[in-house]
Amino acid sequence: MNTFCLNPVKGFINNLFQDKEPWQIVTITSTTIFTTIWLWNFVVQDESLIERGKKQLFRLRNYIPAIRNKINKGLNNINLSFEAEALQKTKGVPFILDLPSNGMEKVEILKIVQNCVNLGGYDWKNGKVSGTVYVSDSKLVHLMGDVYKIASYTNPLHPDVFPGICKLEAEVVRIACHLFHGDEDSCGTMTTGGTESILLACKTYRDYARHMKGIKNPEMVIPITAHSAFDKAAQYLKIKVRLVPVNPHSYTVSIKHMERAITRNTVMLVGSTPNFPYGTMDNIEAISNLGIKYNIPVHVDACLGGFLICFMPKAGFNIPPFDFKLPGVTSISADTHKYGYAPKGSSIILYRNKSYRHHQYTITTDWLGGIYGSPTVNGSRAGGVIASCWATLMYFGYDGYINATTNIILTTKYIEQNLRKMDGIFIFGTPATSVIALGSNDFHIYKLSEALNAKGWNLNPLQFPSGIHICVTSVHTEPGVANKFLKDVETELSIILKNPNIPVKGKLAIYGMSQTISDRTIVGDFTKYFLDSMYYTPKNQTASNGPEI
Ligand SMILES: *Cc1c(COP(=O)(O)O)cnc(C)c1O
Repeated sequence: MNTFCLNPVKGFINNLFQDKEPWQIVTITSTTIFTTIWLWNFVVQDESLIERGKKQLFRLRNYIPAIRNKINKGLNNINLSFEAEALQKTKGVPFILDLPSNGMEKVEILKIVQNCVNLGGYDWKNGKVSGTVYVSDSKLVHLMGDVYKIASYTNPLHPDVFPGICKLEAEVVRIACHLFHGDEDSCGTMTTGGTESILLACKTYRDYARHMKGIKNPEMVIPITAHSAFDKAAQYLKIKVRLVPVNPHSYTVSIKHMERAITRNTVMLVGSTPNFPYGTMDNIEAISNLGIKYNIPVHVDACLGGFLICFMPKAGFNIPPFDFKLPGVTSISADTHKYGYAPKGSSIILYRNKSYRHHQYTITTDWLGGIYGSPTVNGSRAGGVIASCWATLMYFGYDGYINATTNIILTTKYIEQNLRKMDGIFIFGTPATSVIALGSNDFHIYKLSEALNAKGWNLNPLQFPSGIHICVTSVHTEPGVANKFLKDVETELSIILKNPNIPVKGKLAIYGMSQTISDRTIVGDFTKYFLDSMYYTPKNQTASNGPEI
């Protein structure tokens, strides 16, 4: 799914960079500073120094009023267009800005919720969207409704009141331990999603390293392809990130560079199975060996692919070792709400043994409200989500997952093989599971994305370098979907290749352009406005009224 609708941003960036004078001013005054920084960086190889230098420079530049004004004006315009777009996207369903004075009737409530779910232009139920929706099965949807109804007001924060919800969670965790070849010491918790699982693994290792080795300036060593949740965790937890490049052809992490990035402050090593951008799988065995050699915990991010790869060997597909079978692997994150097919809001974090999990917990012994121990980020947790996740595992059963996995992997391979035959595009590395990333040496690949978008397809844009990917789910294994996709790609490719040099138009132009903005704080600023627009409500009802549907 596209994270952004950036049509309006394009104008802003154009304006900002059309008149190059402010930049020239900065360039002139800063060339010497830059040269010094680069020289310094070259000598001491400290990434954070150049980053800090650049940020400082951009901060200085912001003190020049002409530039600051221009940037502010541009950002303000962007903000307004994001708001206009938010209004446009929700057209037809009026905003409710205050509590209704009397409670609504059930039919009315259901109608509004249904109308809201119907908003948006993509046919996500029928396989037009990459990733995002992992299963479409009306029997399962009804089951989820029934299960959630029963458990909706339960909360495992109170194990004495809801011991059965704790039991369901314990079973989900134990089942996952077995799927990933953990022994009797292996353990874990459920979380609200992949990001929380990763955040908790990072917290665990930060605290573990402080406790065991006295590390006070923790660092994590992660591939550049690792999910942005690691960066989020680093920001929350004050852990320094050391990024490791990937091998040029395989797009898997360079083990040689990973070894070099290890310092005495390293608290964890990370590999992905597979990573989100390219769907390639890091060499976990080699990372596990590094972990053992340097006595550093290894986290395997199987958020995306965990519930595919654990079934792939039985389904007849080769997959290199990646789980607790490898002695250096100390934790695994796997999302039940992706290829586990559970509703959103559940994931699992597993550890090799309890000594790690103990560092995940938060314990407050002296609170006036009592001794407070909680296993994850949340205090109260949704028993309904736990029960729904458990119920999904039971609904599928082992054979159900083998079937789903077989269909998804076969569909991905079918799409991959056919894409490889087409002129003008290439595939990044070797897709390990269900993600195929495309690039082009002949034209800007975003043009293909834009063209497919016009035909209703929603793919994910990648940057540095530009690429697009499709993440194949159960929804894409329905008859006809893969062939329709391939046919649309082929048709659009033949059109594009007739005039390969026409620049990218439409929403994705900004993605291409934003990669050329070296001041990432500007990119960060308009991203904040985009997030603001998700919470946009008009000032009054009349402003929002489109025709009711
Ligand atoms: C989706 C994903 C995550 C994060 O999961 P959320 O459930 O979106 O928080 C982490 N790692 C990978 C590889 C992913 O694809």
